[in-house]
Amino acid sequence: MVSSAAKLVDFHCHLDLYPDFEAVVAECEISEIQTLAVTTTPLAFPRNLELTRSTQNVRAALGLHPQLVADRAKDIEAFPELLGQTRYIGEVGLDASPRFYRSFGDQERIFAHILSLCAEAGGKILTVHSVRAATRVLDHVERSLPPDRGKVVLHWFTGSAQEAKRAVALGCYFSINSQMLLKAAHIATITNVVPMDRLLTETDGPFVQYDGRPVRPKDVNSVLETLARLLRKDVSLLRASIYANLKRLLH
Ligand code: MN
Repeated sequence: MVSSAAKLVDFHCHLDLYPDFEAVVAECEISEIQTLAVTTTPLAFPRNLELTRSTQNVRAALGLHPQLVADRAKDIEAFPELLGQTRYIGEVGLDASPRFYRSFGDQERIFAHILSLCAEAGGKILTVHSVRAATRVLDHVERSLPPDRGKVVLHWFTGSAQEAKRAVALGCYFSINSQMLLKAAHIATITNVVPMDRLLTETDGPFVQYDGRPVRPKDVNSVLETLARLLRKDVSLLRASIYANLKRLLH
């Protein structure tokens, strides 16, 4: 029975934004949750690497969040020399929502630069934010990161069905969180457009609430259960399939 060996996957969580950062890393490690610890600035990466280096189940990603670009564009200077220390990049991407739109030009410049650095290095796996900017994100990926030079996971994807189709054709994966499963349009995209072999799960903790408190990586089990119900799949089969997707993505 493959399902009993399949580990839970939280491919996008801000572990360093929990007040008990070290405890949440330990929780992921003990529960064997395959967790990607994303960062919002390269300045946070060394500490994340230090805390996850000796773990089997938690990996640290190097990121510069598009929502921070307005105030912290200069942090990109620390990016290139840290790039060689991890295969994982994120959180990166674009955010065209009204609050962040004034920095959109800088966001695009930085995202294109990061994609080029990744293409040059090869073998990177990126977790990408695309709020109100799915088409622009895919334009950049298509232009700057050939499929044989890196892999893109679209995190909390809220684009249209057409944009999702394009992302699938470009080889993107999708990491699904509980918030995405509250909207009929997003559910329809996930169930009708995204192939089963491109699905991953995430929490995006601590930005998402669960049971009246910030979600924790172990709560990704509820994403899995909801997704299984929506896809009319057995939970243990879906769990095995998502773990297999992760392993394929990494190898
Ligand atoms: Mn995030």
